[in-house]
Amino acid sequence: MKPQDYIALENEYGAHNYKPLDVVLNRGEGVWVWDVDGNRYMDCLSAYSAVNQGHCHPRILEAMREQAGKLTLTSRAFRNDQLGPFYNELCALTNSHKVLPMNSGAEAVETAIKAVRKWGYLEKGVPEDKAEIIVCRDNFHGRTISIISFSTDPTSTSGFGPFTPGFKVVPFGDADAFEAAITENTVALLVEPIQGEAGVIIPPGGYLRRVREICDERGIQLILDEIQTGLGRTGKLLAEEHEGIEADITLIGKALSGGFYPVSAVLSNTEVLGVLRPGEHGSTFGGNPLACAVARTALKVLVEEKLVENAEKMGERFMAGLRSMENPLIREVRGRGLLIGVEFKPEAGGARQYCLKLKDAGLLCKETHDNIIRFAPPLVITPEQVDWALERIVPILSK
Ligand SMILES: *Cc1c(COP(=O)(O)O)cnc(C)c1O
Repeated sequence: MKPQDYIALENEYGAHNYKPLDVVLNRGEGVWVWDVDGNRYMDCLSAYSAVNQGHCHPRILEAMREQAGKLTLTSRAFRNDQLGPFYNELCALTNSHKVLPMNSGAEAVETAIKAVRKWGYLEKGVPEDKAEIIVCRDNFHGRTISIISFSTDPTSTSGFGPFTPGFKVVPFGDADAFEAAITENTVALLVEPIQGEAGVIIPPGGYLRRVREICDERGIQLILDEIQTGLGRTGKLLAEEHEGIEADITLIGKALSGGFYPVSAVLSNTEVLGVLRPGEHGSTFGGNPLACAVARTALKVLVEEKLVENAEKMGERFMAGLRSMENPLIREVRGRGLLIGVEFKPEAGGARQYCLKLKDAGLLCKETHDNIIRFAPPLVITPEQVDWALERIVPILSK
């Protein structure tokens, strides 16, 4: 079949809830992917940071193969020999006390919402059904009904109501606005350390430290959604480390499996997860032995191959190259580690045209909103590969 044939099948039979670039991929290795005609591209999106360890990492592949031949799913009705070690290793790595494993990122967010509400009723004395969670404008936390209920992006919400109550929206990066929105029924602040989908929006320095203080003063759980920023992407294992703080609840997903399999987790520093009793929450696939074995190896790869440190170094090199551009149509180049955004001014006419040119030059990038390109290659990228990318990106984005 030709590329057009695959595209025609997708268009004919699939729901059109994405607008992908017309490149049909069938192979990946490290930072590279190949299309069905054998053309090679550098992946500069990493499946929204799910393949931080690079495509088809051989060690994770081996762990997956081995576990798949032994035991894949027991449900949590029974125990398995991967779950305990997975919890233990994950808690040691992230300095957490408890883990609740799920599958998708959205499920981890939903789980945290349920846990902090219950905590609010049992521990904080919030009257039944009155718990409030504060979130930030331009957030992205997933696609379920409850999560889009507090999205401020009309494309995500319009036509999907009625929505779940109990959320209040404040501006991102504004600790005073957060403080002003608190009531006695506030149980948590849910926030991304850097807003990825909104276009790599980095809050003002000190913001996370200040909200941490406010949460402590007012008895509020700080939930950081690190599903995109976590596991090395920003040059730290968790982005919270940039401000030297610790969340009460940290949500991870995406790269937790190195892109092999959906694995997410709610990590908790306090006893919030302790409020959940048997039967109150669960998932058939959450915590299955295949997921645990894959995630254990994906975490080992991050640590042993020093991908967090590499993200910091390669991010600096990448950003320095991008900052050398002198195109008056570029408003800003910003980022942390290998989570980098290039924002164009509206008069540039949108970022997608650049993504199409980059594709022809052998780089797969995706615009976020109309005017921003996110560069987030796998963290295994080498200096030579960064330079290879810059040699192609700089001329294209400079005009
Ligand atoms: C991707 C993402 C999610 C949702 O994860 P899914 O696995 O797509 O459900 C939630 N929060 C953030 C910050 C994300 O980037």
